[in-house]
Amino acid sequence: MKDEVLEILWTKLVEGGLDSIGSEEIILGEQGPANGRILKDLAEEGMISLEEDRVNLTDSGFEEARMTIRRHRLSERLFNDVFEVYHEEFESPACRFEHMLIRPKLEKKICELLGHPKTCPHNRPIPVGECCHRAEMRTDKAVVPMSKLRQGESGVIAYVHTGDSDKLKKLMAMGILPGEDVSLERRFPSFVFRVGYSRFAVDEGMAAAIFVRRPAENPTEETL
Ligand SMILES: [Zn+2]
Ligand SMILES: [Zn+2]
Repeated sequence: MKDEVLEILWTKLVEGGLDSIGSEEIILGEQGPANGRILKDLAEEGMISLEEDRVNLTDSGFEEARMTIRRHRLSERLFNDVFEVYHEEFESPACRFEHMLIRPKLEKKICELLGHPKTCPHNRPIPVGECCHRAEMRTDKAVVPMSKLRQGESGVIAYVHTGDSDKLKKLMAMGILPGEDVSLERRFPSFVFRVGYSRFAVDEGMAAAIFVRRPAENPTEETL
């Protein structure tokens, strides 16, 4: 419930550009307006300021709301891209699932798995996480699609980015996940690579969806 209030505040204040909103505008789904107790609790926790029925986010409330929205929209992406549960079906499972993302490690893993997505399936922005910053800073030549690796080269899977849920699911089912060691054994006629003890053969499109971090000591120029 508090999460929902914070999400509403984020959408209306931060994304909607309002200075404050009236407490009666905070409508919690079928339950109607947020009751005064939730707002009072949030104010006591220092998350919101409450003056004459006008509600605003405090600095810590801003950060909390940002992370709540991030978890919500990341879960939506996960459900949409991986489990293919759409639209109105989102709200219940995604809503419950997002609470698991409070564990920073899980949030990071899912963000990596999805390739640090920028928007939710409704095209609303996903607030960036630390992992996204780090991934952006590392867009040096260290992370490349597997299709750019040389024969015999190895690295660690950084993330998978397909933009296509069938592909993503296929790769996940193969156990191709961020953090796994990978080595490319052959580039032709198909891309043959090894992850752990398994060997796979994929076409170039698939190979291009798997992003691999090369070890630092490897030369990074691409001599294909
Ligand atoms: Zn959404
Ligand atoms: Zn990220």
